[in-house]
Amino acid sequence: MIKILFLLIIITLIILFSFGVPTEDTINNSLVISNVLVDNNTASENIWLDFTPSSVLISEEKNQKTKEIINPNIDFDTKYLLGKLNYQNDSRFIEVSLEDSVKSGMYLRKETYLAFKQMTQDAKKDKIDLIIISGARNFETQKNIWENKWSGLIGDYYLIEDEYNKATSILEQSAMPGTSRHHWGTEIDLNNLNNSYFYGGEGLKIYNWLAENASKYGFCQPYSTQDSRSGGYQEERWHWSYLPTSSVFTQQYSSLVKNDDLSGFLGDHLVSELKIIVNYVLNINRECL
Ligand SMILES: [Zn+2]
Repeated sequence: MIKILFLLIIITLIILFSFGVPTEDTINNSLVISNVLVDNNTASENIWLDFTPSSVLISEEKNQKTKEIINPNIDFDTKYLLGKLNYQNDSRFIEVSLEDSVKSGMYLRKETYLAFKQMTQDAKKDKIDLIIISGARNFETQKNIWENKWSGLIGDYYLIEDEYNKATSILEQSAMPGTSRHHWGTEIDLNNLNNSYFYGGEGLKIYNWLAENASKYGFCQPYSTQDSRSGGYQEERWHWSYLPTSSVFTQQYSSLVKNDDLSGFLGDHLVSELKIIVNYVLNINRECL
């Protein structure tokens, strides 16, 4: 405890030294972050320690303060984009608190979680409860999901004899290992994994709130209705992406990841025939690019 206090004092001094006496804007900036942290556990303290004020900018526009979240310090490589990561031991990630998720052991990038905390606290004021069903999933986890479907342990895809058709059927609901946006720690699945839930009642209220407000916190729905894209994954009203980081990963995926990088799982010989990068990874809602 004393160590943590000492560390906090040192960090405060460094911040004051680096950024001078806080102006009104930087004070507001701190308040935004503090609001997020007030009711939370020690996990949130960790976010604060690594989340430098330079990654959030408050600007004044027509007498209205708007918060613009600038790309955090992002360091990544091809392995990162492919989800070849161990989130538990990676300081860019943090475990999601059980008050925000349906299960323990779920991870997100720190700035994704911080933005979610801001969003869910404001949503609560409008009587909207957001809960995370799925966060970061690495290559191995996605490989298990994919191969369980491919081999028949889950579902009846094994009945489809033509392998190309089998792959496209699985792709209606699951990404190939190495191609899931969930690898990046920028994606959250919220509340329910069925579109029908979001068409009426409580689900529709939640979806309408997200459609209207999520962008204020940096979130975008990458798998929008298929009218706005051609082919690719089905619409997913539950899947939201933290754009300040994920847009960088999306852009870099097309130049860094090659078809040959997508291997090591059943059906990987179909990667180039399926044009998986163009038809699936990059085929998202234009507003999320
Ligand atoms: Zn998802």
